[in-house]
Amino acid sequence: MNLAELYGGMGKHSWKILDAIFRNLWDYEYVPVKLISFHSNIGEEKVKNILRHLSDLRVVQNKRTEYEGSTFTFLGLSLYSLYRLVKKGHIEAIGKIMGEGKESAVFNCFSEKYGECVVKFHKVGHTSFKKVKEKRDYGDLHFSVLAIRSAKREYRALKKLQGLAVPVVYAWEGNAVLMELIDAKELFRVRVENPDEVLNMILDEVGRFYRRGVVHGDLSQYNVLVSSDGVWIIDFPQSIDVGEEGWEEILKRDVRNIVTYFNRAYRMEKDINSAINRILQE
Ligand code: ATP
Ligand code: MN
Repeated sequence: MNLAELYGGMGKHSWKILDAIFRNLWDYEYVPVKLISFHSNIGEEKVKNILRHLSDLRVVQNKRTEYEGSTFTFLGLSLYSLYRLVKKGHIEAIGKIMGEGKESAVFNCFSEKYGECVVKFHKVGHTSFKKVKEKRDYGDLHFSVLAIRSAKREYRALKKLQGLAVPVVYAWEGNAVLMELIDAKELFRVRVENPDEVLNMILDEVGRFYRRGVVHGDLSQYNVLVSSDGVWIIDFPQSIDVGEEGWEEILKRDVRNIVTYFNRAYRMEKDINSAINRILQE
């Protein structure tokens, strides 16, 4: 995914068209060409031409059944979200890709305002089942809507947890979350010298999250970063608020996952239940 190059080659009309798709994606999976033309103030034939070009670039996907319409691909939604981050003055440009997995693509970037940061582009939705059911009643749940909600959820959780051991978060646009670059390695890649202490630092942090009303929801050795400066917890799209359906089970699962990892990897015998109780009782 070469976002920087793609970004540089986009024309004014293309941005207007992507903007028109974005405005309407809550109501349509494939936004009708007529509507794109109306919102972008570009004639229908020209819109169709540009959409064909954008489809060749894999920025959009067009469809011709029932009516002519267009929808973002992951690349297109990310490109457009990047455009919004730049337009709002958060960042100047995007840097190198740090990693791309099933659920996200993470890029390095530099911002005059914030210094070194990362942009995380969300690929999938992590909406709770209840929310999915609600939305079914009045609209289409497609890739873009889900990825945007997932980014929003991560941004919201990070906002609530600022000041704790999480990245500083700067902005959310579309499927992109802009946050501080943490200079540390994933827990599963390193062999820590003081596993007892590191595990306690993580559990203390889980307790602080809980007291701010947030449960991580996907805590594991992959979502904890460590360095000689300490630990950080990342990756919050699956987080839920304390009080939301199932929160207590999810908190217990988080603690079980991380304690089990330490017990296995470092031959420890930390008791899961007392770790949970300590968090809930503090
Ligand atoms: P994936 O599909 O790649 O597993 P994910 O949903 O797990 O995506 P994250 O865990 O948030 O996404 O990020 C993926 C990887 O990017 C992390 O494991 C980490 O290496 C890196 N990363 C994410 N955020 C930051 C950050 N703020 N600072 C440094 N590295 C980060
Ligand atoms: Mn992760």
